[in-house]
Amino acid sequence: MQTADIHSRFLSYFERRDHQIVPSASLVSDDPAIMFTIAGMVPFIPYLSGRVPAPWPRAADVQKCIRTNDIEEVGRTPRHGTFFQMAGNWSFGDYFKREAIGYAWELLTGSEADGHFGFDPQRLWVTVFTTDDEAERLWLETTDISASRIQRLGLEDNYWMTGQPGPAGPDSEIFYDLGPEYGPEGGPATGSDRYVEIWNLVFMQDEIADVRSKTEFTIVRELPSKNIDTGMGLERIAFLKQGVQNMYEIDQVRPVLDLASELSGRRYGAVHEDDVRMRVIADHIRSSLMLMGDGVTPGNDGRGYILRRLMRRSIRSMRLLGVQDATFPTLFRASRDAMVAAYPDLEQSYPRIERMAVAEEETFRSTLESGSTVLDVAIADVRKDAGNVVPGRTAFLLHDTYGFPIDLTMEIAEEAGLQVDRPTFETLMSEQRTRAKADAKSRRRQLADLSVYADLRAKGETAFLGYDELEADGEVI
Ligand code: ATP
Ligand code: MG
Ligand code: MG
Ligand code: MG
Repeated sequence: MQTADIHSRFLSYFERRDHQIVPSASLVSDDPAIMFTIAGMVPFIPYLSGRVPAPWPRAADVQKCIRTNDIEEVGRTPRHGTFFQMAGNWSFGDYFKREAIGYAWELLTGSEADGHFGFDPQRLWVTVFTTDDEAERLWLETTDISASRIQRLGLEDNYWMTGQPGPAGPDSEIFYDLGPEYGPEGGPATGSDRYVEIWNLVFMQDEIADVRSKTEFTIVRELPSKNIDTGMGLERIAFLKQGVQNMYEIDQVRPVLDLASELSGRRYGAVHEDDVRMRVIADHIRSSLMLMGDGVTPGNDGRGYILRRLMRRSIRSMRLLGVQDATFPTLFRASRDAMVAAYPDLEQSYPRIERMAVAEEETFRSTLESGSTVLDVAIADVRKDAGNVVPGRTAFLLHDTYGFPIDLTMEIAEEAGLQVDRPTFETLMSEQRTRAKADAKSRRRQLADLSVYADLRAKGETAFLGYDELEADGEVI
């Protein structure tokens, strides 16, 4: 079952049940406080919060998402992409738990011949919130799931909220059991990767306040108008239906992975770390393609920086596979070919995307060449003295003179079994910032008419933020 087929089965199932089909919003949200669309609910926030009346009582969509806080999982778990598509059905004050549960189960387990997904119900598990007796009862009443495969979990796992006062509520998640080769039996409550979460049903029924953390808040009242917000991972359904091992091997992603294998001459499936790299490349190229398609351009801060990181991680991964030559035009073209049917706008935007990608690759390759030599020498020196820490001064020099990002220095050092003296690096950075500010001030005094230059310098100082930034930006809500 191709991803496009899963996409259309999902939408037509809900269309037949009177849902308005809504096109995907951009990956770049209108709200400047939200860096990217990280879930299907982002474009619907005004309706879910009650600020704006929803134009339809029921809706369904397949929303493009970016989750950079999953970046470390990419290629290592079977199920985390930095880009993915979240299919959702929505009720704005219309149906509630009973229907949401019934629809999800029917679509998952109904026969393929009838337009459903045809999963074996024996493979599915469900979690509900500790106190949500109603949800558990409805699972038993509405579906044929056996009671032994329903588990209850607490606030951390099965209560949904944005971190802000407002609508919230218990949720119920559906998992697929990969089988005994993937870990011991025991259900999703074990936290084992054997159980892959495929669909999250959120029952927005509470209004919360005094939010101190994910587990400390006050439920102020039951919402007069309750909403349903669900998210089903398209790539996760695809990998399970396509009989492959993970989401990087599905039809929309695999061609790039194969190309990385072909270009490097390394067989996929031979060496675990190489496989991870190929999966990272396939994922990051697709995310970069989709981000540029939605108007993001590589840069030194904000969204542009995240895009830059994704492209740089792809280039680094290709190098770790032994490929020094430029590969972006080939890789991006393969990703476009795999994605264009679902996102026809890529046809038109592609030449612009490729130009940006090529420029980015050229710049980074020359940065890498000069910086790597310096770092290699430093690593050899540390080893000669039987040390295990790369000096902060070297990291600073690499950053300052070669534009070599600190996270990259750390990554390379780590691969060599070494650490980096980060505190010294940070001290040198902050000293440099102070100096640069003082410089800029005195220069402004001398050359008042060159203020444009001062601006540029100020921007330059924000170059190359690390993973920290990337992660902090991930889950804004
Ligand atoms: P997990 O626990 O596996 O990380 P999640 O609980 O973070 O998933 P939700 O926030 O509930 O995921 O998102 C709804 C659905 O979107 C998930 O059930 C899953 O099918 C899909 N999904 C979430 N994150 C990703 C991702 N990084 N890549 C692919 N699909 C994802
Ligand atoms: Mg997650
Ligand atoms: Mg989860
Ligand atoms: Mg979830």
